[in-house]
Amino acid sequence: MVVVMKPGSSEEQIQHVCSLIEGLGLKVVVLRGTNRTVIAAIGDKREQDREFLRAAPGVESLVPILAPYKVASLEAKPEPTVINIGSALIGGEKICTIAGPCAVESREQIIRIAREVKQLGAGALRGGAFKPRTSPYAFQGLEERGLEHLAEAKSLTGLSIVTEVMGVETLDLVARYADVFQIGARNMQNFHLLRAVGERGKPVLLKRGMSATMDELLLAAEYVLAAGTHDVILCERGIRTFEDHTRNTLSLSIIPALKERTHLPVIVDPSHGTGRQSLVIPMSRAAIAAGADGLLVEVHFDPERSVSDGAQTLTVEMFGELMRQIRKVAEAVGRTA
Ligand code: PEP
Ligand code: MN
Repeated sequence: MVVVMKPGSSEEQIQHVCSLIEGLGLKVVVLRGTNRTVIAAIGDKREQDREFLRAAPGVESLVPILAPYKVASLEAKPEPTVINIGSALIGGEKICTIAGPCAVESREQIIRIAREVKQLGAGALRGGAFKPRTSPYAFQGLEERGLEHLAEAKSLTGLSIVTEVMGVETLDLVARYADVFQIGARNMQNFHLLRAVGERGKPVLLKRGMSATMDELLLAAEYVLAAGTHDVILCERGIRTFEDHTRNTLSLSIIPALKERTHLPVIVDPSHGTGRQSLVIPMSRAAIAAGADGLLVEVHFDPERSVSDGAQTLTVEMFGELMRQIRKVAEAVGRTA
């Protein structure tokens, strides 16, 4: 259930409602929108127990939430969530493009790419220091050294850092450098990790698992939200199907479908979503046309020499072309990029 407060309700009224809910043995999550505050009551108690809350000062209505996810649902918060990741906003009118290599390979590599994508309009820098690789013999990432290089690239360009955290044991370390925690597809249902990142309060970029349904993605987001952070960015990155002309099947219809259910921003990763460089720009255009709030794109000055995912990585020139094209699409759908 969600308690919708009246516009202009006081902090004292909000706190009073929170204490009444907590008195029922339920957990409280407060969502502060631009016009009004809503308070989600999380727990298993029956809805009837809560009717008396209608009498509390400042309460406008009680909304039973039918979706299995509460805080993530549009019923809980009808207006879109706009997330400030430092160097950009995600979920507002402007499309945010997060660009960078699959993996941090060296200090020079990440600094050069950061400078180039920044100049072309990227809103944040991506780059893995801990890489989830299918083979244990493949490059696993530069780990802490990679994080240090990312920090240097950030201080030189001002771009915020989006980087993957693969496990609870490295969360403290990654938290020292990341502006946004990326949770990879393989970890979408690592519930301990979801709770642990949620407790940190920093924005989380949650990638859809390769065999996860939309509801499973939303429930994974709910784990993060229920743990405390308000800022979860959902990322469609393709799912496993029988189709084999692409690495994954990029399910773009999930964008408007998610927008019917959640206030959280939705971005698309056309690099992992297709696995093919030539398909990245067309699918980026399609993603923006379908309502995505941003893109996560792999870019390298020399994709052929990229240590991982070169086949799906754009050159810097191609990234410039992507930005030009999505600006036109953004304009056509009433946004900017
Ligand atoms: C990545 O973004 O580099 C990555 C490993 O993605 P995914 O978790 O979607 O496979
Ligand atoms: Mn990759």
